[in-house]
This record gives sequence, C-alpha cells and structure tokens, in this order.
Amino acid sequence: MMAKSFMPTITTDEELKALQLKGLQWTVNHAYQGSDFYRKRFEEAGIKPDDIRSLDDIKRLPFTTSKDLQEGYPFPLRSVPFKDIVRIHASSGTTGKRKVLCYTQKDIDDWGYFFARAYEMAGLTEEDRVQIAVGYGVWTAGVGFQLGCEKFGAMAIPAGPGNIDMQCTFLEDFQSTVLCCTASMGLLMAEEVEKRNIREKINLKKVIFGSERSSEAMRKKIKELLGVEHIFDIPGMTELYGPGTGLDCIYHEGIHYWADYYILEILDPDTLEKVEDGEIGEMVITTLRKEGAPLIRYRTRDLTRIIPKRCSCGSILPMHDALLGRSDDMFIIRGVNIYPGQIDTVLSQVPGAGSEYQIVLERKEDGKDYMSLKVERSQKEDPSRDMELKKKIEAEIKKQILVSGAVTIVDYGNLPRSERKSKRVFDNRDSSK
Ligand code: ZN
Repeated sequence: MMAKSFMPTITTDEELKALQLKGLQWTVNHAYQGSDFYRKRFEEAGIKPDDIRSLDDIKRLPFTTSKDLQEGYPFPLRSVPFKDIVRIHASSGTTGKRKVLCYTQKDIDDWGYFFARAYEMAGLTEEDRVQIAVGYGVWTAGVGFQLGCEKFGAMAIPAGPGNIDMQCTFLEDFQSTVLCCTASMGLLMAEEVEKRNIREKINLKKVIFGSERSSEAMRKKIKELLGVEHIFDIPGMTELYGPGTGLDCIYHEGIHYWADYYILEILDPDTLEKVEDGEIGEMVITTLRKEGAPLIRYRTRDLTRIIPKRCSCGSILPMHDALLGRSDDMFIIRGVNIYPGQIDTVLSQVPGAGSEYQIVLERKEDGKDYMSLKVERSQKEDPSRDMELKKKIEAEIKKQILVSGAVTIVDYGNLPRSERKSKRVFDNRDSSK
C-alpha cells in the first residue's frame, strides 16, 4: 500500500503562483476584516484588500516587525475572535517582551501537516522512532516536533532536552532511528556515545537539527561518531507557526521551504527592495493560510539567499540557503554589503584558522574605508605558519567577499569570549570626515 504523502499536489510553477496569489488575497482580506492593527496599517498605506490583484502587488503592502509584536503584547496580530483560538505559543523572550502568537485549530492542523512533510522529505517511514530531545513548554519546539511526528505516523519519544544519560539509555533501549536536537546537543550526544562505546548498540540513522547554526566540521564529526547517514536542518520561528517550515532533502543542496504555505521575499535590508535571486538579503515572510496571527511582510532580520535552481530531488518546492546571521549585524564597506556570517564561512574553510575573530573598520587619510581582521590561530596550529595562514585568509576573503582585508593572526584564546553573542564588528569610521 502506498503510504500517504504530505507533499504539495501542485506540479508546476504556474499552479504554485496561482495558489500563492489566492492565499495572499485571502490573507490580506482576513487580516483587514479581523485585525484592528492590520486594518489601521493598510489604511495608513492607502491599500484595500481588493487592490491585491497579482503577486507583484505584495510590494504595496506595509511591513511588520518584531516591534509590532512587542507593542501588541499579549496577543499581537490577532485576527480571529478569542473563541476561535485554541492555543498560544511564545518565544523564549531573551530580548524585550516575549513574542506571543495565537493559533486556531486549522493553524495547528496545518502546522502538523507540513511538519509531517519535513519528516517525509527527510525520508522517514512509519517504522521510524523519533527521539525528540528539544524543549517542551510554551515555546514551539517540542510540541511541534511531536505534532508532526504523530501526524506522519512514526513513533514519537518525547525525551525533552538535556539529560544526556537518559538520552543514551533511550537510544539503546528504544532503538531510536531519528534524533531531533540542537546542534550543540548533537555534538554532546555524539561524544557521549563515543565515550560509552555504544555506537554498535544503537540504531540511529538520521539527526534533525533545529535552527541553530552548525559548521561543516561539527556536522562531519557528529556523523562519524554517531554513524548516521544524514543530518538535516529544520528552520523555524515562533512567528511562523514554529519549527518545520522547511527542510533540506537528502541531496542537501539547500533548504526546501513550503512555498504553498508562505511567500518568502529576500530584500536588501537597507533599501527594502528585492535582491537578485542568489544574492544575500533579509527574509521577509507573508503567510498564505494562517488564521490566528497571520504575517504580512514580516521582517525576520535573518539573512539568507534563494538557491536559484531546481533541486536534484526534482521537488517543486524552492530552496533557500542556511541562515547567514542577522541583518542588524550587516555593515557596508566600499559599497559591498558584508555579514559577519560570511567571515565565519571563510574562516571555517581555512585549516589552521580559529573560529574567533574581530573586524575593524576605519576611514583613512585618503578618504577610503579599510577593513582589517584579527583572527585567532586554532589551538593546535603552529605559530611559525602565521604568515602563510594570514595570506591564505586574505586571499579567500578577497575571492569570496570581493573586498580586501588585512589579517593579523593572534594567539588562541586572545580574543574575548562571551556567553552571549560576542561583539565582532568595531566600526571606527567617523562619518563627519
Ligand atoms: Zn531536494
């Protein structure tokens, strides 16, 4: 018997665009009718739901931001009566107030459906046993993984995060085939499995990482130690249902995103104009079916790019790249937009370079801007090779980012560490000169 599929039934780009236009028109109308906030915004922008006649008309809609969510606390963007809301979720709220989002039953059903699609895209079957080692609570993580797993029909093991000892016992006793966790927990688990020498006793085939960034080196190590075939990235944010809004398939050529549930625009964070396909910009999201708290041109501040090609798997679902950082961290030098994430990428490709660095921007006598970098040598690297390392990093930056930067190599541990995000960019340019 053919297993049920959660993939979209549409088969052409034209059908996808027609579906998106219908969803966009529905969303704008729904928000206009149901939300005082959106109606006011539309009126300020001089736009009525009937004005949306083509996908291109999305440009006429006003943006929303996390500030709108905070100001609308505790039930921002709510577009249905309270009687129709069956659940709320909230972000962990590290900065400012928590972001709280309302869900109708249809929103929950939709979320479960497309999360099941993520598992399908990762090649799971109903025989799989999914150990869900992410947080359960008011945030969207655990409950999202669980919902999708049950909808899909695999066996959920709601382990929750941490407790490495229990996780290892579960891997062994329940013969879990899939582990869902953050990248840093994945590494801890991999090292523990090695330490206990239980790799032959477990049955893990796949690991699914939440949205935390992971380097290629880290993934390779985890794959080796756990003996798994695939590591997948699952994006997700509370504003957009939660995790499960896309996945890289087994070809790992990019993250397929569910274009039948939301429109993804990639815009220049300064001009808010669309960038060319393949160029880096900010992810801006408009939902197509979300009832409780629809998003209309929501600025995520996350940077990525569209992967401008059809994946080898043949799926109609388009792809974006891994997240490259936050647009707030972007700086411009000599007309080139640069994101610290790009420097991360370069350093991760140069053997001998550490992961810690600082970027200094200066304007010199000649009136031009200059970038210099301090980069730590990796722990095991021999200082006598510093000159070689410096030249290699400079060449890669020039090649990949198209600007020059003078590199100074410093000792391992020389640059400050922080529990929170380290400050990496020091802009000393005096704009008055
Ligand atoms: Zn694919």
